[in-house]
Order: sequence, then structure tokens, then C-alpha cells
Amino acid sequence: MRVVIVGAGQAGAALAAKLRALGHTGEIVMLGDEPAPPYQRPPLSKAYLLGEMEEDRLWLRSPDFWVEQRVELRLGQPVTAIDPAGRTVTVGGEVLAYDHLALTTGSSPRRLPAAIGGALPGVYTVRTLADVDAMRGEFRPGRRVIIVGGGYIGLEAAAVASKLGLAVTVVEMAPRILQRVASPETSDYVRALHQVHGVAVLESTGLDRLVGEDRVTGAVLKDGRELPADFVIVGVGITPNTALAEAAGLALDNGIATDEMGRTSDPAIWSAGDCASFPWVGGRIRLESVGNAIDQAEAVAANILGAGEPYQAKPWFWSDQFDLKLQIAGLNSGYDHIVTRKGEGEAVSFWYYRGDALLAVDAMNDPRAYMVGKRLIEMGKSPAAEVIASAPDLKALLKG
Ligand code: FAD
Repeated sequence: MRVVIVGAGQAGAALAAKLRALGHTGEIVMLGDEPAPPYQRPPLSKAYLLGEMEEDRLWLRSPDFWVEQRVELRLGQPVTAIDPAGRTVTVGGEVLAYDHLALTTGSSPRRLPAAIGGALPGVYTVRTLADVDAMRGEFRPGRRVIIVGGGYIGLEAAAVASKLGLAVTVVEMAPRILQRVASPETSDYVRALHQVHGVAVLESTGLDRLVGEDRVTGAVLKDGRELPADFVIVGVGITPNTALAEAAGLALDNGIATDEMGRTSDPAIWSAGDCASFPWVGGRIRLESVGNAIDQAEAVAANILGAGEPYQAKPWFWSDQFDLKLQIAGLNSGYDHIVTRKGEGEAVSFWYYRGDALLAVDAMNDPRAYMVGKRLIEMGKSPAAEVIASAPDLKALLKG
């Protein structure tokens, strides 16, 4: 049985490795359009951008691993078509047959329209190793960078730029940074952190356009203000890579729609990672995180081999900014109140509740709160708000 994987990223790599770990002996072909072997993206806006991590530490597995595991890696070539009826994909002019196909095509950063300067040289997005290598030379002390978008990736890039001695301005259209993903408490904490380090955080501030002749030289804001810049980073979210699936006639719904097994509307085609949406508490969800990419891909590998086990997402995420390690467990959507817990020293955590139900926790430099919160959520336990706020020993809540 030949399994073909389209997309050699976090999910694709996990899927291939898991197939072998579960005893699949047939062919595995993994096709990637990037030239690099499967690598981790989180350091691209953190340690790697800062220059504190070598490139080869990004690789998810050593090059030998793929050879030893008999995973045929073909890099630098996009898959251009799927023929679900004939069970083939087209890559570099070749037509390749599959028994099972897995789409782990990830996502692409949203770009600003060219009409408002989005295509000017000096305007960058942060998704691939090539993106970061292209912008690295811009990070020189004393230069000015505008970050468009106050989400995690933009804020991480802002922190790196600030650490390297650049003058940083974050421009966020919404009333607060991280509005889409976090509570006002978390936004306030992160904003204060950036401001202490001298980052200018402009919220409720729309971008009218980027300006420049041969390359970007600044931005004009909706309120008419003009900001000079030596370069610009755009971090305004991502869109799932669904074009191949769409052209093949697969069902889409905020991504490639799968059932709880990870199977798409075609029984021989599966999907996992940033590009896939799956059933979740009566609706559908698509997650953009390493944890989800790995867990969902591993579930798909098992199901390709016939396990028949529904994917149980256990969302978690992290972000590093300055000396802040933010760890998030659960999903906060639908929360109606927040409980704040002070940890040791500077540690603090925000616990999201809907009624009496604990949904999620954001832990700031508080690994214990994160670990306990994650376990509680997975166990379906919801301690009372006052217990969370004041329990002397959080770990004790896991017992009984
Ligand atoms: P990817 O890793 O993007 O892999 C998909 C691959 O498929 C890509 O190489 C793509 O080019 C390729 N592809 C697409 N179409 C084709 C085609 N037609 N043919 C061949 N190949 C194709 N998550 C966290 O949990 N914590 C973090 O701190 C964090 N930080 C991040 C920082 C940055 C800068 C970025 C960009 C992401 C970060 N993430 C973080 C998110 C995390 O990296 C992604 O959720 C994860 O990489 C998703 O894995 P994936 O396999 O779905 O997609």
C-alpha cells in the first residue's frame, strides 16, 4: 500500500513517522514544495530570528531518519493536481499513484494588497525559513520596523527586533493586541511587557497604506499619521492552503473538511494540520498549532491503517516574547469570565470559565499553572473559581 503525503511540514513529518512506528511497511512518499527538509516553524519568529539557533536545529528529524525509515522525500516541487477518481497526484510533470493520500499543506500568510504597498520590497511575512532568511539582514540596531498586526507572530517578531536594538512600532487595527485569541487580561499583560521594552503599541489604529518608491519607506495610518520605516513585517493571520483540495472537488469548510477520523469527503484522502477543519463540540474547528499538527497527523496515520479512532484534540500553544514564556492550554472560545491567579514571583495565570466550566488557561512564566490547567481541562475537571485563585498547592487539585 502506497501512502502519498502532500506537504512536508510539521503534520506531514509526524504522519510519515507515525505510519512507520505503527508498523506500516508499504511505500511512503512525502512531497514538499519548500527546498528544506521538514522543519519546525516556531523558532522562525523566536530563537532563529534572534540568531540564537542554527539552521540544522530546525530540522524535525535528521536527514538520515528519512532514509532509515524508507520515507521517500521529494522536496522543492509542488503537487499541482489530484485526480481522486484515478487516485493519482501530479508533481513536476509526473503522475504518481496512491492508495491513500494525505493533504498536510499547511497555510499561507495573508498579505497586504499591492494597491496599498503590500508588494513593495522591504515588506515581509514570517512563514517559511526562506522568508526569515530574506529578512534577517534588515535586523540591524537603530533601524525602524513597523509590525502590522498584533497577533502572536507579529508580537514575537517585535520582541526580537526590540532585543536587537531596533525601534519597533506595532500597528493593530482592533481595540487591543491579541484580541482574536486572548482575554483583555492577557492583552494588557503582553502590551505592558512590550511597552516596558520601548515598543510602541498602537491599537485601534488602521493602516491606510504603505509608501515608498523602490522599497517601503513608511506607512500612512487611517488617522492620517505618517510613520517612517526601514522595513515592515506583516502578521495579519493565515489562510489554509486548500487550492489543491478545492480543484479536486473535496468538501471545504474553513479548510479541508474532514470527519472525526481525519478523512475528507473522498474516502482515500485524509488531511491534518493547519489546512484541515474537523468536528468539534457540535461545530467545526481548525487549529493553527504544532500540538494539533502532530496529534491530528498521528491520529490520521493510525486511521489510515484502520484504527478507527476519532481524533480528540487537546489544544495547547506557547509564545516567547522577551523574558515571557506564555503557555496556553484549552480553547477559550465562549468564555464569560476570567479568574486571575498569582503564582510565585512574577508568575501569573488567567483561567477562562464559561459558567462553572473551566475552558482554558493562559500561564505567564508559570509552568505549574499551565501543567495543572492542561490536566484539569483534559480530565474535564472544573475547580471553583475561588479555589483556583487561592489554592496554596495547585497540583493537589489533580487528585481525587
Ligand atoms: P506546515 O508546517 O506549514 O507544512 C505544510 C507544508 O506543505 C509547507 O512546507 C508548504 O509549503 C507545503 N505545501 C503546501 N502546498 C503544497 C503543494 N501543493 N505541494 C507540496 N507541498 C505543499 N505553533 C505553536 O504551537 N506554537 C508556536 O509558538 C508557534 N509559533 C509559530 C511561529 C511562526 C513564525 C509560524 C509561521 C508558525 C508558528 N506556529 C506555532 C504554528 C505552527 O508552526 C503551525 O501550526 C504548524 O507548522 C502547522 O503544521 P502543518 O504541517 O499543518 O503546516
